[in-house]
Amino acid sequence: MKKIVMKFGGTSVATGENIRHVASLVTQNAKNDCRIAVVVSALAGVTNTLIEIAEQAKKSDEKHIQAFTKELLDKHLATISTAMTSKQVQKEVTQITEKTIAELEKVLTGICYVGELTPKSKDYVLSFGERLSAPIVWGAIKDLKFETQCFTGKEAGIVTDSNFGEADPLMNFTTHLIHERLGPLLEKGVIPVVTGYIAANQDGIVTTVGRGGSDYTATILGVALGVDEVWIWTDVDGIMTTDPKIVPKAKMLPQLSYQEAAEMAIFGAKVMHPRALEPVIKENIPVRIRNVFHPENQGTLITKEPDAKATEVVKAVAMIKDVAMLNVSGAGMVGAPGSYAKVFDVLGKNNINVMMISTAVSEANISMIIRRGLLGRAISNLEIALLDRGGLVSEVSAEDDVAVIAVMGANMKGTLGVASRIFTTVARKGINIRMIAQGSSELNISFVVKEKDGTAVVRAIHEEFNLDKI
Ligand code: ADP
Ligand code: ASP
Ligand code: MG
Repeated sequence: MKKIVMKFGGTSVATGENIRHVASLVTQNAKNDCRIAVVVSALAGVTNTLIEIAEQAKKSDEKHIQAFTKELLDKHLATISTAMTSKQVQKEVTQITEKTIAELEKVLTGICYVGELTPKSKDYVLSFGERLSAPIVWGAIKDLKFETQCFTGKEAGIVTDSNFGEADPLMNFTTHLIHERLGPLLEKGVIPVVTGYIAANQDGIVTTVGRGGSDYTATILGVALGVDEVWIWTDVDGIMTTDPKIVPKAKMLPQLSYQEAAEMAIFGAKVMHPRALEPVIKENIPVRIRNVFHPENQGTLITKEPDAKATEVVKAVAMIKDVAMLNVSGAGMVGAPGSYAKVFDVLGKNNINVMMISTAVSEANISMIIRRGLLGRAISNLEIALLDRGGLVSEVSAEDDVAVIAVMGANMKGTLGVASRIFTTVARKGINIRMIAQGSSELNISFVVKEKDGTAVVRAIHEEFNLDKI
């Protein structure tokens, strides 16, 4: 009998009707001799509103918080009323929802009184999106007379480090706990419904695994339960040659290797969390990206081997918007052993991940790409640690209106002339390139342009390499 983890994203559970559809997809597969564990995201848009209210709560009043929680409660109650028909199940889910919202109100009021939002309390607030959606999906499956049980990530046994906002699972411990808690249920044909995105550290404090992290939860669960496949159900047909919101003619890629798909996810294809493939690569578990609105399509299959038939040099192009370019310069860095190490040491100690690096031959300058939200922390810490210390670094500057464009494909390796074709295409558009990097894997070439030019660059490259005809 096949075992599958199915993850449903925000749009898949956006409304009560959608949730009913999700429940019927799950139960139809369960009837077809499949053992299924379900992972769910928050209802579409809810995590964003939780971020806003968490930020506002610091300087807000109780009335404002109550208005917010009332609206959130109404939204979920409306969803419950259409997601399931049994009055008894509706009542059960409503009780859980009311209790959860009351807890959220207390948490937000606490933040309001203390006037401070720490990464820890922020994760706690953000956990409520999934804590509210999962019981509704559970209710909809129960409504169809299937045995099911609802878990938070913490209850399921996902234990992470304490890097709030971007926590990583302790995979050995997590595997042990999930296997123990969910394994026997799955064997009996009970359908566990688990909140995506949220987990807990070793002390039981709630953590989140990064935005879009329900995909990561799904693969963690998949590995721990030793499933045959992980299916990521979303609102597009699969992984495409680029974001269909930028190029509507973008084509679905039926097969990708782990390496290609990971490269795409890391370099901006929002369709999957950048770290989601890490757990499954080791265990060689295939991942499928499928359209919840077109379940008749097979979607993109991600496996160890690249598609042997594919001959395209360039397969996809992506844009990462939410980034900034950091420039560290100083004549003192020229020929000084260990000078780069000092810069990266400061960033590393402050939990700032460097996504892209480029240096000039003169060594007087390093340019780096980091998440835009971390820019303030990066500049201030570099300034404290490095400026005026023997003249190693004389200036730390930044540009926060840039985007990274990444052009990808396994066959780019060893193929001459791809870079020149890319840069000629950009030059023809009269657009300036601010920075270039090629990973040693040669699976991608990435470069930085002004954010306002990003869409035009993606479209031009998509056209130049005929990706709509792939
Ligand atoms: P979910 O809520 O299901 O997790 P997301 O919004 O996180 O869905 O991801 C799906 C979206 O990713 C699509 O609607 C699409 O606009 C965007 N996207 C960006 N790049 C790509 C790509 N290369 N292929 C497919 N979708 C992409
Ligand atoms: N709800 C979380 C987010 O919006 C996780 C997810 O959707 O995967 O980031
Ligand atoms: Mg997502």
